[in-house]
Amino acid sequence: MHMTTTQQSHWDVIIIGAGLAGLLAAGRTAKAGLRTLVLERATQLGGRAASPQLHGIPVNPGARAISTSAIGLLQEEGIEVTGGSPKPSVQFVTGMPGESLQQLPLMQVFLGKWATWSEKMQLVRFLIRSRQVELTGLQTVSIERYLADTLPSPRIRRIVLSLIRLATYCDAPAQMSAKAALTQLREKVVYVNGGWASLVKSLKQQAIAAGAVIRNESAVAKIQGEAPELRIVLKDGTVFYAANVLSTIGPKPWLKLLDPPLAEGVASRYDNLVPVYAACLDLIMKRLPKPNKTFAIGVDQPWYFANHSAVSTFSEHPEQEIIHVMKYLPPGLSPSIGDDQQELEAFLDEIQPGWQDHVLERRFLPRMLVSHAVSEPSPDDRKPGPVITARPGLYVAGDWVGENMLVKASLVSAREAATAIIARHGSTNHKTRNGDRAIPC
Ligand SMILES: Cc1cc2nc3c(=O)[nH]c(=O)nc-3n(C[C@H](O)[C@H](O)[C@H](O)COP(=O)(O)OP(=O)(O)OC[C@H]3O[C@@H](n4cnc5c(N)ncnc54)[C@H](O)[C@@H]3O)c2cc1C
Repeated sequence: MHMTTTQQSHWDVIIIGAGLAGLLAAGRTAKAGLRTLVLERATQLGGRAASPQLHGIPVNPGARAISTSAIGLLQEEGIEVTGGSPKPSVQFVTGMPGESLQQLPLMQVFLGKWATWSEKMQLVRFLIRSRQVELTGLQTVSIERYLADTLPSPRIRRIVLSLIRLATYCDAPAQMSAKAALTQLREKVVYVNGGWASLVKSLKQQAIAAGAVIRNESAVAKIQGEAPELRIVLKDGTVFYAANVLSTIGPKPWLKLLDPPLAEGVASRYDNLVPVYAACLDLIMKRLPKPNKTFAIGVDQPWYFANHSAVSTFSEHPEQEIIHVMKYLPPGLSPSIGDDQQELEAFLDEIQPGWQDHVLERRFLPRMLVSHAVSEPSPDDRKPGPVITARPGLYVAGDWVGENMLVKASLVSAREAATAIIARHGSTNHKTRNGDRAIPC
């Protein structure tokens, strides 16, 4: 039997990046008998799904909620996902930074005096219609335009926009297609037990069991040539060859690796994608001053608060609370780090007064890359597909590829890329050189 080792230079497929996309694709290509090498720049695997420790607990860097349709994709790979869904008892918080803020429980919107009867009816009709409306055709319209046309009341629009921010992780209603936003609004979500690191662990185990080889601390510096053999050069000068290369890194850094570069007209499609960022405050608390307040979102400001430990398990100390506070940053704008942190703290003062006295450990992450691309309105699907026709043998996967959003886009595109690679491998008869399956070293 033939052994694959991290020193071997020729592979059927090389995957750049060991995030969820790279690990899922590696499991698939390795299971199909392709000699698969995964190259990861970092020491830890998982990319944006890694859950670094906070107070000794693996905590997602920024709030993570996986959609049930993304869970379905993982289950199809044989991955079990456990966790809890947030309760719908949301507090809406109105007001601007520096002003006095006001809390409005969901039931008050429907039953209290905050909205008129006609406004309440607008909201009820919208919530029903948003689940039923035919989405085809809505990819050309922004969600801002769609709401302006369907919701006459500005404050009901603001309530709905806060729900759309929550569902899409993005504060760019003019730049997001109504189809993408409403699709996302229909999704149910789960906070995963043990954080997303548990997903990374399962996908990694599966890829290795199928025979993929994973090499960490292996930053790719160049992707050279094209079919029948691409050449991968690492930062340290090591060279690998493969008939198929799948990149799961972001569009802009990926373009920089290509040698020769893609023609300008083709490259601009990837280069013009607009990334989405968030400022995140993660906290481990001894206890919460207001334990019943588990979930709040800003109406006039793009703020988020949730107690993830209220419905899922992260540590052996269930009495400790895991809190995520977040600000969705407008795409393209530099964050004002000090102001964002103060703003989130003031928001937390409103939801959990006296919270500072109960903090065990905290972490502020001013500019987290949530997604490489906003789903923009466009007549043709503006987000690219996984097969790079201009460079045979080259594929891409990630949250900027295909018609889905966030991690679902990463998982779907990884699966599609793996399927295309397996099909191409079969048709070009690039069989493993001695017919053996790769085995882990
Ligand atoms: C704060 C925050 C909140 C989020 N919340 C949600 C949510 O609730 N729901 C949801 O669905 N999604 C959410 N996301 C998005 C989700 O985390 C990502 O879509 C998903 O993890 C992307 O996985 P990926 O494998 O495509 O990319 P990545 O995880 O980015 O993996 C790419 C990998 O490539 C590696 N790499 C980069 N360059 C090189 C190189 N030159 N050579 C070798 N390796 C390289 C990186 O180190 C990384 O490991 C959130 C993201 C953030 C940051």
